[in-house]
Amino acid sequence: MRTVTILGATGSVGGSTLDLVEREPERFQIEALTANSDVDGLAAIARRTRAKIAVIGDASRYQALKDALAGSGVEAAAGPEAIIDAARRGADWTMASIVGLAGLEPTMAALSCGKSVALANKEALVSAGSIMIRAAESAGARLLPVDSEHNAVFQCYEPEPGRVSRIILTASGGPFRTWTREQMRTVTPAQAVKHPNWSMGAKISIDSATLMNKGLELIEAHHLFPIGADKLDAIIHPQSVIHSMVEYIDGSVLAQLGAPDMRVPIAHALAWPERMATPCARLNLATVGKLEFETPDEERFPALALAKAALAAGGARPAILNAANEAAVAAFLGGAIGFLDIASAVAEVLAQYEPPAPTTLAEVVAIDAEARQKAAGVMRRMAA
Ligand code: NDP
Ligand code: MG
Repeated sequence: MRTVTILGATGSVGGSTLDLVEREPERFQIEALTANSDVDGLAAIARRTRAKIAVIGDASRYQALKDALAGSGVEAAAGPEAIIDAARRGADWTMASIVGLAGLEPTMAALSCGKSVALANKEALVSAGSIMIRAAESAGARLLPVDSEHNAVFQCYEPEPGRVSRIILTASGGPFRTWTREQMRTVTPAQAVKHPNWSMGAKISIDSATLMNKGLELIEAHHLFPIGADKLDAIIHPQSVIHSMVEYIDGSVLAQLGAPDMRVPIAHALAWPERMATPCARLNLATVGKLEFETPDEERFPALALAKAALAAGGARPAILNAANEAAVAAFLGGAIGFLDIASAVAEVLAQYEPPAPTTLAEVVAIDAEARQKAAGVMRRMAA
């Protein structure tokens, strides 16, 4: 029996994780579940899974959660500190699936326990990569990649030094893969969240539409796998059947394939180093028929170029890129700026300042806050 904590249990990845965990109640026991504001969703899954504790990030909803859990035997807690405490309970396996930098401190708390942490929350790794990897190493924690591309690489990667010559991440290209810049100018949030192959939370869906997601994933790969930034590539593959590839010095290329369903990589991380059965659709290549590939167009999708430059420059650049992007995506979803303004705002913030590389968590948080402030200023000017 393994104990499981899900940080971000009410989200898309959280829901897919619960779907797997609840299929094998004799194998997994829920320790803690967290959410930000969805009290009803959190209380329902906490009752259903008989979790030990449920935590809501929004402290003003504590009473509502307590009422919703009355008589269930599930403990209730609230506030960002309570989420960190829940992560620190040290479940055997923790899913880090909070969206955005808000997930950084809870994920670090889970890592400090020295157990297995399945990582979906890429923004934390993008912003605090080397700090996070060092923390995992010193605590003896196992970081298991859940992002489908990184999980694919993890499955194909031989860690012996000097063997791997390149990592190639695949990208669906998003809903606007074939659109011109002119067509993208008037895109609405409803159009942009409609991903062709995957059903995901709003923020990552927008990132997929701008290709910022692939840029964040290149940075993520750089931290998860010990390989130079110059050996990381992205390729557009609209069918999302090949989830990523590892090229070896002898010219062999290993790929992981499967139907596009997040439960596959989550199951891999949940059962690792074993395997577990899933109800996911089986891949039928004859039905798929054709696998296509194309080079990403960084002129139509400048967010990818911005992320690549941040990866190459390192230091504080990835944290600034991520913070400005989170702010811009939120503004786009709220109707304050246009779709093309997202990458423009990120570029402007990156051009504004050059803080030294962060070496502590507090420095990452400070850089993130400053970049969000600058992004707000840039976007006020855009909207005017
Ligand atoms: P969702 O928006 O669906 O879910 C986000 C979760 O985080 C919810 O449980 C939400 O709670 C919680 N949350 C949001 N803000 C805060 C906060 N400030 N403090 C604490 N909790 C918070 O996101 P996804 O599941 O799509 O994505 C989660 C992460 O996984 C992201 O980093 C994403 O990039 C990554 N990922 C997602 C994939 C997918 O298929 N969805 C694929 C690969 C990676 P509430 O419901 O109360 O708002
Ligand atoms: Mg991905």
